Amino acid sequence: MDLELPTTRPTSVHLSETDAHTFNEWLTTEPGGVVLIPVGALEQHGPHLPMGTDSILSTRIAAAVAETTGALVAQPITYGYKSQQKSGGGNHLPGTTSLDAATLIGLTRGLTTSLFKQGARHIVFVNGHFENYQFLYEGIDLALGDLGIASGDDRSVLLLSYWDYVSLQTLETVYPNGFPGWDIEHGGVLETSLMLHLEPELVDLDRSVDHPPADLPRFDRLPVVPSRTPATGCLSSPEGSDAAKGKLLFDQVVDALAKDITQELQLRH
Ligand code: ZN
Ligand code: MN
Repeated sequence: MDLELPTTRPTSVHLSETDAHTFNEWLTTEPGGVVLIPVGALEQHGPHLPMGTDSILSTRIAAAVAETTGALVAQPITYGYKSQQKSGGGNHLPGTTSLDAATLIGLTRGLTTSLFKQGARHIVFVNGHFENYQFLYEGIDLALGDLGIASGDDRSVLLLSYWDYVSLQTLETVYPNGFPGWDIEHGGVLETSLMLHLEPELVDLDRSVDHPPADLPRFDRLPVVPSRTPATGCLSSPEGSDAAKGKLLFDQVVDALAKDITQELQLRH
């Protein structure tokens, strides 16, 4: 029996809130066909921020970018590669629950393959956890090999970490006393301000501790020397965080990211 389904458009940017028929129709009619995959971690973020911070932020940024570009957002990858002492305090800290590299590579490879097989034109990984990046890259590269997607194919994958979209001008406003560097921005002013803007009820500033930035060696030592991570688990102080800085960061990053994706993938929206 030939059943006719009514034509629909997605009413949510999240695939988890969209029915499969609507998604399939969107894939086959939308010339853009861009699916964003937020990536984060379950990782300690000091006493004042929740452990899902990296996933929460990448998902909120991806959703806002999708709203303005016409893309859709797939389920996030909510676990990440092992936290490292020089960028996330270390994998030894309670609460930090990580994947090994092979698992993250395999997950990335499988999701990329699955979405392309369904007809996605472009996939954009929006990373929110510093340590993930090269393993996402590897998973994407292997998936393209599996599918025989080479230079000249009009399908593509973009990979980015959202903090690379923070402009110098925004940095000067957010860090009037000097920017400590992205690697030690863990539980610091960027993440705390963004969370105060987006999820204030998940932030407890009464529990935040002001301390100097972590002073870590140039080498990685394994096993780690736990005393090198500040006792809070943060690598820089959240002192000076506020929701207004969070709004500035969020709006500026979403705008720059949406423009970049639209231009790169030549979306008409
Ligand atoms: Zn983080
Ligand atoms: Mn992280």
